[in-house]
Amino acid sequence: MGPKRCAVASEESLMRIFTVPEAPDSTLSKIELEISNNLAGFLNENIAAIEKPLHDIEKDFQSAVIPEEPMFVSDYAQDIMEQLVAHSVHTAAPSFIGHMTSALPHFVLPLSKLMVGLNQNLVKIETSKAFTPLERQVLGMMHHLAYGASDKFYDKWMHSASTSLGAFCSGGTVANITALWIARNRLLKADGQFKGIAAKGMVAAMLHYGYKGLAVLVSERGHYSLGKAADVLGLGRDNFIAIETDANNKVNVPKMREQAHKLEAQGIKVMALVGVAGTTETGNIDPLDDMATLSEELGCHFHVDAAWGGATLLSANNRHLLNGIERADSITIDAHKQMYVPMGAGLVLFKDPAASDAIEHHAEYILRKGSKDLGSHTLEGSRPGMAMLVHACLRVIGRKGYQMLIDKGIEKAKYFASLIEQEPNFELISQPELCLLTYRYVPVQVRKAIESASEQERIDIYAALNRFTASMQKRQREAGISFVSRTRLTPSQYDSQPTVVFRVVLANPLTSKSILQGILDEQKALAKTDPIFKKYLLKYMT
Ligand SMILES: *Cc1c(COP(=O)(O)O)cnc(C)c1O
Repeated sequence: MGPKRCAVASEESLMRIFTVPEAPDSTLSKIELEISNNLAGFLNENIAAIEKPLHDIEKDFQSAVIPEEPMFVSDYAQDIMEQLVAHSVHTAAPSFIGHMTSALPHFVLPLSKLMVGLNQNLVKIETSKAFTPLERQVLGMMHHLAYGASDKFYDKWMHSASTSLGAFCSGGTVANITALWIARNRLLKADGQFKGIAAKGMVAAMLHYGYKGLAVLVSERGHYSLGKAADVLGLGRDNFIAIETDANNKVNVPKMREQAHKLEAQGIKVMALVGVAGTTETGNIDPLDDMATLSEELGCHFHVDAAWGGATLLSANNRHLLNGIERADSITIDAHKQMYVPMGAGLVLFKDPAASDAIEHHAEYILRKGSKDLGSHTLEGSRPGMAMLVHACLRVIGRKGYQMLIDKGIEKAKYFASLIEQEPNFELISQPELCLLTYRYVPVQVRKAIESASEQERIDIYAALNRFTASMQKRQREAGISFVSRTRLTPSQYDSQPTVVFRVVLANPLTSKSILQGILDEQKALAKTDPIFKKYLLKYMT
């Protein structure tokens, strides 16, 4: 390679990047063409199979100084192909079943480009125009999916200036914060002389209402974003209270009731219950109907975090698993998880169209009262037109198409569970309720050793198994053929001790039965050569 050509900063070259497209034979245009013709092929070819250690990758991203001189686009494109693309994660690969980020349908690529090109800002109508009604329609469709209100309801509220049926946002985290923000502001609303928490803050609100604190109750499998919400909203993370789950990872509602009464007896008001509809670790769904009843008893907000599992509502065959969700005051759903939309598409739905009044915000230069600006009911300000991609997927895939995708994922998880159960050295840890399951590799001999071990020996074996599972997971990832993730649970067969397990999410429609068998075969081979196994567990293999 010869010395790099030097670009120079000039008005002329700056004008050129705003006005002249890349030449058809330029590096970037070639990349674009390949992506449009064959995304899967492009990713397969350009993402390196073997993992490069992070500290090596960091060497390409060392300088903290913004470069003085400009660079030719083609040179830059070449650089990122080598430094960035090559060392990205192949989230779309059918053998990468460890994450909630799935493959994308092809049509979202050109549509994403159109969205970026239009560069609309959904914060206000002035910069979004038709995108605002489109987003309101998507919120209406998702609201209808969850709550199934009447045509009259949607005629009245969907495009109403004074309300919104939900809020679009970057993801489940912001959706959960928004939901609990509304719960907080509705609970500590204006009352007589008191102007409400939004104006006066938490201390004044506590003094006015005579509470010693606020609490949010959720399953111990609740997502960590809820802890952030408790922190941001001034409740404190310690008042975000984890309730035990049963053996099937569903929250124990009688225990939740007991805890709620205990707190209220201490003067701590239960602000909200959060039901999880598809836990991130095991995919199990809380008893939503029972939780709705409890929230009515307590007179508190009921939020359902269906960030991952909410898409199940699209399947007539499986939506019953979320029964009771229609009684929730608010629901979080991530379109960028099981709805096959690119990253950055979350939403929260409000049962009551007036709910968002509690967080309404107006500013004179923007978001005027009576306008239909979406920004007056959202935590985020400037927002891209991601709703367009959700709209596209809902229209192109359709409810029936989604039903097939959701049902297929659940069937595949059940199939994978049956494969695991047929293998004597694998152990299924959580049965799939949706398309997510957990398991681990525990040779029969080691299981026998556990049965006859003393308490101290058991603790040692558990620790060794945890290290072994983590080691296998890491080695499998580094080999680059397939990927499963890992998490830590507390299953009863391991005396409810912290237990490291493999976790898989089977949402990619291209993941075949033979790929699943291949992953187990690969793991069997990895187990045989695992250094942690040799060091700590081989001695039990007699
Ligand atoms: C993913 C997830 C979240 C957080 O969503 P982000 O889009 O990552 O912000 C919250 N709750 C559950 C149950 C999730 O699975």
